[in-house]
Amino acid sequence: MKNSVTVIFFILFTPCYYFSFSQSNNRPDPLAAHIDSTVKPGDDFFLFANGKWFKENPIPASEQNNGIWQLIQDTINAQIRTMCESSALLHAEQGSNKQKIGDFFFSGMDSVSLNAKGISDLKNDLAMIDNIKDIKGLGNAAAYIHAAAGSPLFRFGVGQDDKISSKNAIFVSQGGLSLPDRNYYFDTDAQAVTIRRKFIVHLNHMFKMIGYDSIKAQNAADNLMTLETALAKKSRKREETRDPLKNYHKISFQQLAESAPNFQWIHFVKGVGLQSVDTVIVGQPEFLTALNEYLVSFPLDDWKNYLKFHLVRSLAHAMDDKTYAESFSFYSTVLRGVQEPKPRWKRAVEQTDRSLGELLGQVYVSEYLPKGTKTKLLEIGNAIKEIYTERIKKLDWMSETTKLKALHKLNTVVMKVGYPDIWKNLGTLNIDRSSYVRNVMKANQWEFQHMIAKYGKPVTRSEWDMEPQTYNAYYNPSNNEIVVPGCNIILPGYERILADDALLYSVIGGSTFGHEITHGFDDQGCKYNELGNLENWWTTDDSIKFFTKTKMIVRQFIEYVAVDSLHINGELTQGENIADLGGIMMGYEAFKKTGQFKNYEIIAGLNPDRRFFLGYAFAWMVNERPEATANQVRSNEHSPAKFRVLGPLTNMPEFYKAFEIKAGDAMWRPENLRVKIW
Ligand SMILES: [Zn+2]
Repeated sequence: MKNSVTVIFFILFTPCYYFSFSQSNNRPDPLAAHIDSTVKPGDDFFLFANGKWFKENPIPASEQNNGIWQLIQDTINAQIRTMCESSALLHAEQGSNKQKIGDFFFSGMDSVSLNAKGISDLKNDLAMIDNIKDIKGLGNAAAYIHAAAGSPLFRFGVGQDDKISSKNAIFVSQGGLSLPDRNYYFDTDAQAVTIRRKFIVHLNHMFKMIGYDSIKAQNAADNLMTLETALAKKSRKREETRDPLKNYHKISFQQLAESAPNFQWIHFVKGVGLQSVDTVIVGQPEFLTALNEYLVSFPLDDWKNYLKFHLVRSLAHAMDDKTYAESFSFYSTVLRGVQEPKPRWKRAVEQTDRSLGELLGQVYVSEYLPKGTKTKLLEIGNAIKEIYTERIKKLDWMSETTKLKALHKLNTVVMKVGYPDIWKNLGTLNIDRSSYVRNVMKANQWEFQHMIAKYGKPVTRSEWDMEPQTYNAYYNPSNNEIVVPGCNIILPGYERILADDALLYSVIGGSTFGHEITHGFDDQGCKYNELGNLENWWTTDDSIKFFTKTKMIVRQFIEYVAVDSLHINGELTQGENIADLGGIMMGYEAFKKTGQFKNYEIIAGLNPDRRFFLGYAFAWMVNERPEATANQVRSNEHSPAKFRVLGPLTNMPEFYKAFEIKAGDAMWRPENLRVKIW
């Protein structure tokens, strides 16, 4: 994936900007305007390129960061808000898309009803958990929560079999933690210790809110922490889950049931709506073995409290202000440093988007997406693909045998851009104005059932896992496809002027298409063939050379200190770092073929090279709270934005030349340490 977070500001947006406007002198060029001339590019290029904007645009109290994502998300949020508000006023025909959008949004805005209800809408669900008589009863309750709210105990889903991409399979893997990563339960630095202490306080408050007295709430909180710490202990480190082969164990359903007899798998699978299951792909067998033991070594009451907490925490964002505030205080303030909640309309807009994304997407495409978006995106994508082909042919470290296979894989990469050709049919989803949290649960259940129904059916390769209004992109190794939603065409500040090729090829070409295509050739993607099946298509010698190079990028990123004493996890982030490096190199090579580069066009006082590299820094113009950065480093495979700029650029001689960076400058990296893979 390209981004880990998205979020918020309002900008004028004019469709067809690619074709209707030319460079205007009436407003300052954003790239030039963002430069902080008090910083030398060779000292810190990220701050040099973006620093002035950061100084002029402090992080709002309701956000964990501020920058390009907010600028784009604000535009999209304003558009979604219009769609939601106009739909809510319509009282459209029952069952129509606009009725669902309008009623969903209305229920989220109805603060009087939300606060009058408190957590009463979950009363029956909490009672169901209370009524569990023995450990065998957990299976059904867990199935219900998996479908309607969160994922307690483990992760469960239906998706493409990594070894037979044309088949849908069932996956079970480690999970069930309430903190963002297993490391939070063990890290010994001061911040991690404080987070654990505050987490227990939060648990105590949540248990009181579901009706426990002080002593019972404290016991439940302490025991939950003990239980989750035990689960975390048996969870693999995030970086250990990167190897798809080591996390693939196909077993029969009977073997699964026998390996964890204390958990009633049969109740669980029937509970999620599966009539019969032949095989299951288990990610981490040792986790399920441990879970099986814990089911009897921890008292039943601990498990019931665990399920209750997971149910409420997963839905707290759609509940009364008191429940929301308690959840916000821990998950947003303690973990990410956010000072105050977003306004209600923004929360309701973002939740409507999460729950009814494809319905909103259809309106978004017809009313807001600039005409010609698909064509422009494909043009840039194809230019990048062409460059990749040239570069693979020229690689000096790869044998001809492997090159042929790499080229074949590259040539068969499917590029889905803009929006899906076929939309999901949400006809069976009922939404009304009576309960916000029930609406969220119904949408979750619909999505979950949609996924479950795929089991036993052929894979539908036309489906998208992202909406056209989602500012992000992804590579799916099982389909050997990249998916670039339409809104990636938005470049903040360039709505009314023609974004020049330096920008298009750095932001959209490099950090989007180049990045995603490279995922097909990163430490994980390289293990899948052109059909999306896990298969080694490398010669042994080439494979050794490739992984020697990836180790260099691992070492490079481990050196970076993201915040306080927290270093970037080089192993965990290597796939994204490889994709960033490949992306910027391909984007630059593709840019070299444009008229702007060849004619050495100067725009806003910036030559083509400088505009290209500043454009790349603009793609990652994100100023983040230190708590949010720490959270990202501990639990996310993307490096913080700053290092997504510094890391790849310091491997590029063209960058040094463009800004006259020399040995002795902080950004300088000796030639023997520079990484070049693709
Ligand atoms: Zn990525």
